[in-house]
Order: sequence, then structure tokens, then C-alpha cells
Amino acid sequence: MSVSVIIAAGGSGQRFLSGPKQGPSRSKLFFSLGGKPILAHTLDAFQGIREIREILLVIPPGTEPWVRTHLLKGRPSGSPIRLVRGGKTRAESVWNALRKSSPRSDWILVHDGARPFPPKKRVQELLRKGSQSDGIILGRPVVPTLKRVAPGNGRVLGTVDREDLFEAETPQLVRRSILLKAYKNNSKAFLATDEASLLESIGARVKILPHSEWNVKITTKEDLSFAEAFLAQKEALPVTAGFGRDTHRLVSGRPFYLGGLKIPFEKGTLGHSDGDALLHAIADALLGAAGLGDIGDWFPPSNPRYKNLRSEKFLKQILKGVREQGWKPARIDTVILLEKPKLGPYKERIQKEVARILDLAAELVSIKAKTQEGLGPEGEGRAVTCEALALLRRTA
Ligand code: MG
Repeated sequence: MSVSVIIAAGGSGQRFLSGPKQGPSRSKLFFSLGGKPILAHTLDAFQGIREIREILLVIPPGTEPWVRTHLLKGRPSGSPIRLVRGGKTRAESVWNALRKSSPRSDWILVHDGARPFPPKKRVQELLRKGSQSDGIILGRPVVPTLKRVAPGNGRVLGTVDREDLFEAETPQLVRRSILLKAYKNNSKAFLATDEASLLESIGARVKILPHSEWNVKITTKEDLSFAEAFLAQKEALPVTAGFGRDTHRLVSGRPFYLGGLKIPFEKGTLGHSDGDALLHAIADALLGAAGLGDIGDWFPPSNPRYKNLRSEKFLKQILKGVREQGWKPARIDTVILLEKPKLGPYKERIQKEVARILDLAAELVSIKAKTQEGLGPEGEGRAVTCEALALLRRTA
């Protein structure tokens, strides 16, 4: 099977564009969806399908330079994309493309540019089942209760039996020779709202491929908002990770806080807050994983409010911010670089304390302690350094 895809994007989308003109955009399909034009998603949907020989992209007259710069430049190589000038109606646009399609294609697959997410599995299924008829189209069973109403006075005449009703969607796959014939033998061809109806008009066999997946047609600004949400959810990473590191000097006359615990020792950490290097490293790891900056952005040392504040308060507030971004800690791993005191007797208590602050099971927090063999500021007992890795999981 050899297929030419026609993407109908020749209209401007008047309902969508009502109001002031949006920059260089002459079509709603040039609007951004998830950081690239809506139409780029539509093109992506047909990339890498073996049967597709070429893509004919029908665009509004005068938009060719914009499309070349913003849509075609830098696209990964795949089926060649040819630009076709749109007509006054959708059917006229499809006709313009059909005439330019390769005669070596035996099938034409027409798709609305405004449907950026045609279900990939269904596209494949259409291609597999195409040869059984002259045309096969994606159709959705009609679900709402439909009323027939008297013209003019709004009186309900009856309820339409929806059993055999389908909403016609795209893609629609049709034999090229038959579509050409349908255009030539139909004086009202340019008024047709889909390809199937053209085939019907000459008595060709058209089948429905029923489905109920999301195949949104972006008609209004609300549709675009829904599509954004759909995309965000689809592309969301299920896990993320972040790394944090912190060093504090060890000096006399200060308490020694580590992992939320006060550890008896002759020296303590010098710091604006309680100087808990382990909680600070964990806080930075959480912030890094969620893309929320660093602890200095959240609690600037220049602010006297944070003087001598316990780090547990910082960490809890950061945890709240992380949760608001839709993440929760799944695992925390840490290393403490410290010469003295020996942490052996405290490791389990630190583990439990960190787990409590983060509302995690203790076995999901690991605390490892190392000396530095007498080397460097930690080895010489002048500082404590902590490193932390945080793994976060999506909450929804
Ligand atoms: Mg610190």
C-alpha cells in the first residue's frame, strides 16, 4: 500500500481567531500547544509510518514563509512534506492537494490539521483494513440523546435513535482513483464536509472504524486548554531525581545539628540557621529534582527571620512546595563526610528523624557516613560536608 497524506489546514479558524489578530499567525493551527505549533503535532502523528510516501500540507494562502521557518525548518527527516495552497472550502483545499498527489499512491489519507492527536494505533488499523473497501474512516459512536426539533418553534418532534449513528472524524482513508472520480462527478463537490460523503455521492463503499479514544478537534480556545492539559499529562515524567551538597565549618561554642538531631560534641556548625548540613543537602536535592531552585533562593541568609531557625522548618516548607508541583519523595540517599564524632551510634536515629520530617518510611532513607582519612577540611575536623540524592515520584 502506498499512501499520500493530505493534511487539511487551509482554513483560518474564524471562531478561534475572532478578536484581535494574533501576531504573524493567520491560522489557529499556528498557535502554540506544548511549546510548538498545533500543526507540528499533527505532522508528528504521521512520522515514521512505512506506507506513507508523502505528506501534502494544505495551508492558508500567504503563510508559506511562516510555515517554512516555524514548522518545516529543523524537522526530523521522514516522509517528504509538500506545501499546497488552501482553497475557499475544506473540500476545495483537499482537491488542490489531491491533484498534486503522486499518481503512484493508490490511497489518500485525509486528516484535519486541527486534530493534533489522532490515535496512532487506529491510524495503523485504518491502513491495515483499507483494502476491504473504497474508503474507511474513523468514527465515534454517538453517545448523547438526540432530539429532532421542528424548525422555527423549537418544539421537540421526537428522539433520534442513536444506535446506528456515528460522528465522522479523520483520518479518512480513501482510494485515490475513487476520490478523483467523486470530485469529477459531483457538481457540489466543493461543499462536501468530508471525503466519505464524496464517496457516498457516487455510491462507493465506505466503512467506519469505530473508536472512542481522544481525537480532539481544536475549534475553540477551551479545546486548546484541554489539549495542553492532555499533553502535559502524557509527557509528564513519572520520576525525577535531584542532587544536593552542603558544607559547614565546625567551630567551638555552637551546637552540632545533623539530620535534625542534636549530637553531643565539643564543636558545632557555624551557620546562619542551625547549620544542619545534612538537611540542607536534602533540601537542595528535593529542590533540584522538582526544578524549584536552591535553598538560598527560598531562604536568603540575608533575611534575619531565618537566623538560628531549625532546618526542619526549611525542609518542611520545601517539601510542601515540592508536593504542590505534583511530586513526592520516593527515596533519599545521603553521604556524610565527617572525621569526628563517629556517627555509628547516631545513624539509625538520624535515618528515623529524616524519614519523620519527610513523612517517609525509614527504609526509604539511607544515611551513610565516611571519614576522609585525615584529608581535607573534613578530614582535619574543620568541617562537615553532606551529599544527598532525592528520587521523587509523581503524585497524580
Ligand atoms: Mg547550609
